[in-house]
Formats: sequence, C-alpha cells, structure tokens
Amino acid sequence: MPIPFATVIDLQAALNKDRIDGKKIGFVPTMGALHAGHLSLIARAAEENDVVVCSIFVNPTQFNNASDLEKYPRMPDADIHLLKQAGCDYAFLPSVDEIYPNGKQLLDIDFGALEKVMEGEFRPGHFKGMATVVNRLFEIVNPEKAYFGKKDFQQLAIVKNMVKQLRLPVNVIGCDTLRQDDGLAMSSRNMLLTPPQRKAAPLIYKGMMTAQEFIPFHTVEAVKELVIRYIQQSPLLKVEYFEIVNPETLQPIQNWSECKEVQACIAVLTEGPRLIDNVTYFTI
Ligand code: AMP
Repeated sequence: MPIPFATVIDLQAALNKDRIDGKKIGFVPTMGALHAGHLSLIARAAEENDVVVCSIFVNPTQFNNASDLEKYPRMPDADIHLLKQAGCDYAFLPSVDEIYPNGKQLLDIDFGALEKVMEGEFRPGHFKGMATVVNRLFEIVNPEKAYFGKKDFQQLAIVKNMVKQLRLPVNVIGCDTLRQDDGLAMSSRNMLLTPPQRKAAPLIYKGMMTAQEFIPFHTVEAVKELVIRYIQQSPLLKVEYFEIVNPETLQPIQNWSECKEVQACIAVLTEGPRLIDNVTYFTI
C-alpha cells in the first residue's frame, strides 16, 4: 500500500529520511483518475529508483475552462488502490492551499515559440499553470528523475525547457503512450465519452497512422487535409488542430525535407471531452 500524504511537511519528512539512507527518488506527477498509461510511468520509475512518489492533484491554474475543471474525474480511493499494484511508495494528495499557500501566483517564465502553438494557442494560460505546478511539485519532492508521458508531447517539451531554463537538478524522462486495443490513447478524460463518442474516437489514431504511407507522394498540407477528412468522417469528431511539427522546436514544417522525423499532434473536440494525441512520422 503506498503511504498517503496530504501535507508537504509530512511528505518531506519521509523523503528526507530516504535521502539520508541514500535512496534515489523517482516522481510521477498526475491529476489522478489513474489508468494503465499512468501506471506504466510508475512502473518505470519503480525500476529506476528506490522510492517512487506519485502526486494526484487536479491543478486549477492549468484549466482555462471552468467546466473542464469541474468535470475532471476525481476518484482518489480507486487511485490509491491502483498505485498499490504499480509499485508506488508515496501517494501525495495535497489540497489547493498546500500547493499554493501564497495564492495562485504563476511562474514567470517565457517558453517563447514552444507555448505559442497547438495547446498553447487553443488553451491560453494552460502551460504557465502546468509549469507552475510542476515547478512547485519538483521543489517539494526534489526527485532525481521525473516521468512524463509523450501522450502530452508539448507538455513534455515545455517541462524539459523549464528544467533547462531554471537549471533544476532533475532528469526529465519521456515515456511512450499506452493505447487501448483499438488505438485510442489512454486518458482520464476517455471515461467522460458517451458510448457513441467512444466508438468514434479510435478514428483519431487510425487517421494519423494512415498518413505515414502518403508522405512520399503528397505535400504536408495535402496529408494534413487527408487526415482531418478521415477523422471527420464521424460527425461526432471535430478536429481543432492537426499540426505536423519539428519535434524540437514544435513549429509546423512546410516540407518533408525539413526533418527526418516529425511529430503529428492533434486535438479533437467531441460534444464531451476534448482529446489530444500525437504520433511520429518518418519522412525518409
Ligand atoms: P495526467 O494525469 O493526464 O496529467 O497525466 C499524468 C502523466 O501521465 C502525464 O505525464 C501524462 O503525459 C501521462 N500519461 C497520460 N496518459 C498517458 C498514456 N496513455 N500513456 C502514457 N502516459 C500517459
């Protein structure tokens, strides 16, 4: 059973003791409603560290939409049960006041072009809020290694950039996306899909995957149109953006010759939750 902590002081007391014993600390920040994708990060952290901390905190400052925050699934008891099986030692479930004791002051950091595209463009303020909470959690946990999913590709790039800019002593590790058998990327928001939306949702990954074979014969623009049309064959799915970007700069590419490997990133609106996903294409 992971030991649950609600306060910074109690968690830090346990971690200080572990550090004195020479233990390496691995950290997995989450917003809870855990699924196998989260658990794969925890399993990797357990392989590579002596102590694994998982935080469960639905961070209000990264939601740019009040109803999204309100509807976000919360199930701490089920989460703790899952953490037990995954090899987590400490579960950190802080209150909002514990994380933001001086009010919800945002981290003053400029991510430049990285935060101006895709999620940054469509969810204004999201990355400032996310970086603020991750920085605060890093300060509390002070892990050697922290694990993030590539499912949130832009988030991972921004966290790595923050660590570089602030020279934080943490090694940020990106982990592969876990999918359902039908290809849908696992996400806490999937449980908010209605049965018809859930049935349509695998078109997102399938649509993105069909593009790989078109790459030698079509322009970037034409491939984007093909993918969007494929996904929108379902009236339940509306593509908010589909961008094919340089994986380092996250800026959209114009020609396939620009990079050997590109990242295709998508956000899809349903009448219910908004879904994001991404895949890699090889251009040569
Ligand atoms: P969240 O609870 O959605 O904030 O996610 C917590 C961490 O789990 C983030 O680093 C996510 O990128 C990662 N994650 C979410 N879904 C998946 C997935 N399907 N596969 C792997 N990692 C994931």
